[in-house]
Amino acid sequence: MDKYCVFGNPIGHSKSPDIHAAYALQTGQQLTYEKRLAPLDGFPAAVRAFVAEGGKGANVTVPFKLEAHKLCGALTMRAQAAGAVNTLLFTDDGTIGDNTDGAGLVNDIVGNAGVPITGKRVLLLGAGGAARGAVLPLLEHHPSQLTIANRTVATAEALVAQFAALSGGAALSACGYEAPRGQYDIVINATSASLQSDLPPVPAEVFGPGTLALDMMYGKEPTVFMQFAADHGAIVRDGLGMLVEQAAEAFMAWRGVRPQTTELLAQLRSKL
Ligand code: NDP
Repeated sequence: MDKYCVFGNPIGHSKSPDIHAAYALQTGQQLTYEKRLAPLDGFPAAVRAFVAEGGKGANVTVPFKLEAHKLCGALTMRAQAAGAVNTLLFTDDGTIGDNTDGAGLVNDIVGNAGVPITGKRVLLLGAGGAARGAVLPLLEHHPSQLTIANRTVATAEALVAQFAALSGGAALSACGYEAPRGQYDIVINATSASLQSDLPPVPAEVFGPGTLALDMMYGKEPTVFMQFAADHGAIVRDGLGMLVEQAAEAFMAWRGVRPQTTELLAQLRSKL
């Protein structure tokens, strides 16, 4: 049986083993997938130990995505662009790092929510790891505009500078949370504010009927961001679909088979 795992600290909450077990069953793939708690100062050693045991691949979650990026011998283009790695492939030629978070996000928006990105005004809140991973996959769908708003504006500006050559014709700009004007078609909360039940201070006018407001966080209750967006007419969505889709993308990278996600997403949602 091929062995896979997810590294994190903490890791107890991870839904990845359930998701990958469901994908393996659905696609008839023979594999095992477990949680591995890596010590905060011992991530590379934990990875080496897993490879020595015959591990074929791994997911990486908080707080190791940047460290994972550093230890790879080769990186996919989207992992290079993100500066972070959430998927490792252990090959005879060394460790390859990939980042499937952004692809998971756009697959959820376009595939599950049925909202096209092409030609749309998109507002991305945050400029941390999750936002960085989202920029290239979003630009590949050719929005008319991509505004990156962040608490620390300089970090958003650095992202705009990094991706300027890859904008594909989209108007790409950086600003603080209060600056965006007019209704956006898609507003993505890639900040960690929801973890503290906090709300990035975006103007209410960015939301309206027809806006998709997606918070990357997920849980039983709607986040304050989802509540605020819904109060101003938006259709809201949490990050559970993104989670299921980034896992499907990792499964595809490892096994060469793309699992179906719709049923699993409904099952997980019913268990929240
Ligand atoms: P980072 O710590 O890398 O980035 C956090 C970002 O949020 C920064 O832009 C930071 O701004 C901003 N921020 C932090 N606190 C606040 C606040 N109180 N008010 C406004 N802005 C704030 O985190 P990640 O990018 O790794 O994760 C972001 C979110 O995405 C998390 O909630 C995480 O759980 C979620 N996520 C979900 C995934 C999924 O599959 N659904 C996958 C990956 C992430 P500044 O630059 O000024 O510090």
